[in-house]
Amino acid sequence: MIKELKYTGLVVPVDDLTVCALAYADDIALIADSPENLQKLISVLNDWCKKWRFVINPSKSNVVHYRNPPKVQTNFIFQLGDNGPVIDITDNYKYLGVYLDQYLTFSKATTVLGSAAGRALGSMINKYKSMGEMGYSTYTKLFESLVCPVMDYSSAIWGGKSYDCLDNIFNRAQRFFTGVHRLCPIDGYTGDMGWATNRVRWKIDALRLWNRLIQTDKNRLVYKVFQWDMTCHRTDNKANFASNIKQILCQLDLKKCYKDQTVIDVSYAREQLMKGVEKDWKNYANKKVKLDLYNNIKTKYGAEKYLLLNIDKYEKSLLSQLRYGILPLRVETGRFCNEKREGRVCTLCSTNTVENVEHFLFECSVYDSQRLQFIDKVRDCTDNWDTLTYNECLTKLFELKPRALGKYVKDIFLYRRSKLYK
Ligand SMILES: [Zn+2]
Repeated sequence: MIKELKYTGLVVPVDDLTVCALAYADDIALIADSPENLQKLISVLNDWCKKWRFVINPSKSNVVHYRNPPKVQTNFIFQLGDNGPVIDITDNYKYLGVYLDQYLTFSKATTVLGSAAGRALGSMINKYKSMGEMGYSTYTKLFESLVCPVMDYSSAIWGGKSYDCLDNIFNRAQRFFTGVHRLCPIDGYTGDMGWATNRVRWKIDALRLWNRLIQTDKNRLVYKVFQWDMTCHRTDNKANFASNIKQILCQLDLKKCYKDQTVIDVSYAREQLMKGVEKDWKNYANKKVKLDLYNNIKTKYGAEKYLLLNIDKYEKSLLSQLRYGILPLRVETGRFCNEKREGRVCTLCSTNTVENVEHFLFECSVYDSQRLQFIDKVRDCTDNWDTLTYNECLTKLFELKPRALGKYVKDIFLYRRSKLYK
């Protein structure tokens, strides 16, 4: 059949090869550079099928007009044989599991992957709930093996930019583990979870594909298409796979590898990409007022100790909220009723002080007895406890005594609640 199709001479040149159809198992895609030529190919295919008593299912066959946005879709009517059934023109087609839309934006592909990955994350969260508790490494492993493979499917092809629908899933997974709500500043929990971001995983996938492609047999179609893609970028500056790889390799200072088409050390690339993530994270976090405290006590992008220990879920959530400036103390809740910052004072003691994290943890006299017990327990973590600033204290506590800190915060937070809402 392919021979007969090629015999028509209606082929599209790719490098020194010519292509008119891609066949995989029981699936065939015809490629032509004009509607008339495509109709001719369809007729040849239809005749061949008739001869060998194959039946083409018109409802499962579609035509897609790939083009740049300003151009309008063709109004050509494609038919299976003269007076035969019409093949509909559609704006996208699923080929080998990937939706290829008419402008090759991959928006449909990523939306579909997003909803599948959302379901995968939902079932993972249900597992967590049915188990009651789950450690950081188990949770990370499950995310990487249940959700990432769905989210990253063929990302080497489309992963050259960010997609909200997929980033939302990445953030939701981290929010669930840290126990914070959806309005929590993203840079807070991202820095504490220390996961490789979507973009890093996609860049690594693209580099792996690059490594595979440059080592492929030079006579194979896939290699020719790859070289053609490289040429397209070189001559027309097209945004394609080659431009994505070029951008990644520039970021890694490996421009020469792009020019010479050499293999990339993926683990080195990953390390370097994570350094970039850390730099960006620090920049963004520093700009957020809410993350004031966080910026003072967190310096390195990476899994935080209190998340690594199997701390009670509620305590973990309180510690996260405390770090990210969203613990519902008056300094935070006052925002919702437009209270002036200086007016958001603690209603439990009579000091007329703003009820912020520092006041809540270290100053408010209402929690004196709990605080005494707590300080007794943690004093041994440093020799100079009494000379430390509040931020230095918190840094030490999160680093060395996260368990005790979690218990203390839970104790006084529940006590506060019982006092306020009795
Ligand atoms: Zn107070």
